[in-house]
Amino acid sequence: MGSVKLSQNSPLKRFINFAYRKGWFNVGRALFAKSLTVINYHRINDPHQAGFDSFLPNVSAHPKDFDLQMEYLARWFNVVSLTDVTNWLRNGKDLPPYAALITFDDGYLDNYTEAYPILRRHNFPAVIFLTHGHIGTDAPFYWDLAAYCFYHTQTDAVLFPDNTNEKWANEAQRKLISQRWIEALKILPHTEKLKWVEKLPERLNVSIPQGYFQKLMLNWDQVREMSQNGIEFGGHTLTHPILTRVSPEQAEKEIHGSKLAIERELGQEISGFAYPNGRQADVNAEVEKLTQNAGYQAAFTLQNGPTTLQEVRRNPFAIRRIFISHLHTLPRYALLTHRINRYRK
Ligand SMILES: [Zn+2]
Repeated sequence: MGSVKLSQNSPLKRFINFAYRKGWFNVGRALFAKSLTVINYHRINDPHQAGFDSFLPNVSAHPKDFDLQMEYLARWFNVVSLTDVTNWLRNGKDLPPYAALITFDDGYLDNYTEAYPILRRHNFPAVIFLTHGHIGTDAPFYWDLAAYCFYHTQTDAVLFPDNTNEKWANEAQRKLISQRWIEALKILPHTEKLKWVEKLPERLNVSIPQGYFQKLMLNWDQVREMSQNGIEFGGHTLTHPILTRVSPEQAEKEIHGSKLAIERELGQEISGFAYPNGRQADVNAEVEKLTQNAGYQAAFTLQNGPTTLQEVRRNPFAIRRIFISHLHTLPRYALLTHRINRYRK
């Protein structure tokens, strides 16, 4: 799960579109050939479909846009697999210029139903970082549970963790408040966060049908099928805590435990890990060390921008990724995957 910051600056947007049409983004590209551009997706789905009652910001792209983005990568990048990256790290086996790695976080079912057929058509490898405790279960992530409750509630107010009560007058306000509520929970200690989540259905007077969330996440048969067809899997903890907000013992369990559990299911070594949330405050040197000690070869943050190969080699446990949102147009995608993205504020 990540978060979205959108520029409302329309002259800038117009300029981006103009520069994209003129091909300016690709001037001087050869200077940046020795880089690894890692793209981060969560869900590939239609966020505007009727009855969409899960967490909207986790929709990274409509399937049609995802297809266009894959076309863009085919044209300008060499898409590599996680194994290509770890072979390069381990044995110095060359990576192609303009290497790009496609990644997905969390393990949503639409990675299988929507993204996988498109990836196959393009003949692209990808890696999906699984939150082990949610795969093949009816357990929703708290943001999807909260989104469900806010979508189906008949009430018009909610209590925030700072004990303020926020009221909405229409659907648009309710949506904003629900996203703020979910954001507000992110920074709570893990156990306190769970308490707030547990109480939410009752507070909003919503009951959840049994098995409702089973269709939101991947199951192990789907994971196994994909793993035999070019999709690799990595760890993303057992329960998705922010690792800097739990004890080192708990963090170790989450990091190492998810590696062992996925290895047991797939019968193969798991070499990559993605930090939950992955922003600057969500990863530190201690967490990186725990990840390395658990036996992973590489780990990925959500710090924005491509990484030079030199940077990856220097610290393979802090590889940057570019967070994609369904709100991004193709010109914006081109800008985000450009080296210049490292210099923007
Ligand atoms: Zn996640």
